[in-house]
Parts: sequence; C-alpha cells; structure tokens
Amino acid sequence: ENLDKGLEKTKTSFMSKMSKAVAGKTKVDEEVLDDLENVLVSSDVGVATTIKIINRIEDRVARDKYLGTEELNKILREEIAGLLSESETGEAANIQLPDVKPYVIMVVGVNGVGKTTTIGKLAHQFKSAGKKVVLGAADTFRAAAIDQLQIWADRTDVPIVRQKMGSDPASVAFDTVQSAVKQNADVVLIDTAGRLHNKVNLMNELTKVKRVMQKVIPNAPHEVLLVLDGSTGQNAFEQAKQFTAATEVTSLAVTKLDGTAKGGVVIGISDQFKIPVKYIGVGEGVEDLQVFNKYEFVDSFFR
Ligand code: GDP
Repeated sequence: ENLDKGLEKTKTSFMSKMSKAVAGKTKVDEEVLDDLENVLVSSDVGVATTIKIINRIEDRVARDKYLGTEELNKILREEIAGLLSESETGEAANIQLPDVKPYVIMVVGVNGVGKTTTIGKLAHQFKSAGKKVVLGAADTFRAAAIDQLQIWADRTDVPIVRQKMGSDPASVAFDTVQSAVKQNADVVLIDTAGRLHNKVNLMNELTKVKRVMQKVIPNAPHEVLLVLDGSTGQNAFEQAKQFTAATEVTSLAVTKLDGTAKGGVVIGISDQFKIPVKYIGVGEGVEDLQVFNKYEFVDSFFR
C-alpha cells in the first residue's frame, strides 16, 4: 500500500532502533525505558510527546512488574494511538467538503515545503470527486510559484486566477473568490507567499488576504491549511509555532514523508498542536497525498 511504501524509511529506522533497545532483555526495566525514550526522540517524535508516551508506559510497567519486552511493540502502539486520540480535536479527516459553496481553503507555509504540490494534489482529488475547483495564485512574490501553480492547473484541467508577478496577493485572492462564485465552483484553493523572515509582514499579509476575500464571502476562508515539510523534523515544529502565531491555522498537511526517517514528527505535531493533521504527502505524484488516519499511521510503524 502507498502509506507503507511512503513510510518505509521511518519504519525501518524505527524498528531497527527498537530491536536494539530490547536486545538481550526479557523484561521492560528502567534501562529499556531509557533506551525507548532515546528511540522516540531520535525518531523526531519530539521531547514533550516522548515524555508523555514514556509516562504512559511507566504506568503500564507499574501495574505489571513482569511486563516482557516481547510485548513492548504492542504496548507502544496502543499508547501512542491512545495519546493521539486524546490530543486531537475535530473529526477524522476526510476529503468530503462541508456543505458550503464555494468552500475556500487558504494554503499557507514556508517556500519549498510542498505547498503548490499539495494544492495540485488536492485539486486533482476534489476534481476526481466531481467537484468544481478554482485555484488562486496569490503567491505573487515568485514568478516560479505562479508558473508552478499554472502547471498544476493545466495538469488537473482546473481554472486558475492569476495576475502578474509582484501584484497584490489580496487582489488575486479577491478575483479568485469572485470568479469562483460566478462559476458556481465548489472549492477554492488559494496559494499564498511563505516568507517567514518577518512575522509582522506575514501576519499583515495573511490578514489582508482574508479580509479582502470576506468582502465576497463573509466566512472565507473556511479552512486555513498549513503545509509542513516532514523531512525537516524538528524544524516543522518550529514552523508550525510561527504560523499558528501569525494566523488562525485550522488544519495541517505534512509532506515529504517518503524519503525520510523523520516520520515520527507527525506523532509529535498531532499531539502538540491542537490542530488536526488532515493530509500527509508520501511522494511527488498526484495520487501521493493521503487523508491522514492516526491509527493507520501508527499501525504502519509496527506492521
Ligand atoms: P512550495 O514552494 O511550498 O510550493 O513547494 P513545491 O510544491 O514547489 O514543492 C517543492 C518540492 O518538493 C518539489 O520538487 C515537489 O515535487 C516536492 N514535494 C512536494 N511534496 C512532496 C512529497 O510528499 N514527497 C516528495 N518526495 N516530494 C514532495
């Protein structure tokens, strides 16, 4: 399956660390727990989330002093899944759209994280589901960003609203939602610029883009999707912190999980930010964006 293939590196690295941690041990003792802590931290789960997981396992050990290491995988899987089910708000993600038309998704994130690609993949999925999609190229700072989005628009045969490079992003966003209303579109995907060097600028720009769209659709954007590059590990946490401070993020997409052993980052991000991870990117192809299911995700580590 796609998910297993996409997470292969994370899984292989995680499993080999796990077997080293329990090598020659039959009982889950202090030493095994210390090793387990190192395994989780070095798998990019993040320190805070690792501590929560270890505490849960310590509770299990306290209840069952003879807990064997052969059971550790099973227990770890249960405790991570339990932790994630408590820490996330909202319903399980799916590709279904709420009954709002057009449903406006503003996509934010630092340059290079896979924002445009994610928009293209989403356009494809929505279109395949019979939805009428409109793209808005509101990242007007880089000519390449507009061109990239155009390529996805052509590839998925979806209309795009664009202006020339350097034009006002808010003006592009306005035109896009206006055009979407006129075309009776179901979903609008707005690309935005991801320059993080100045938080105040970023905040002002995203606020302005929102405000201008609201002149056409009062509740827009209905969703603010933050795209994070999973292969950057702890850096993805940092970006999530900065963007959630700059604007109200409502969902997350974690990309590039194929080709990295840092997939544990999704567990930490799910736990630390009270924002649901909705999608994961496991490749460059149009089909390689998956709706995130936390249980399947955790299971794939232990399969
Ligand atoms: P943007 O600057 O955030 O819009 O980033 P792009 O969408 O242009 O993506 C940057 C690079 O990452 C491109 O080469 C994409 O093909 C690649 N990319 C995006 N998502 C994924 C993914 O899930 N897996 C892999 N392997 N590559 C990805």
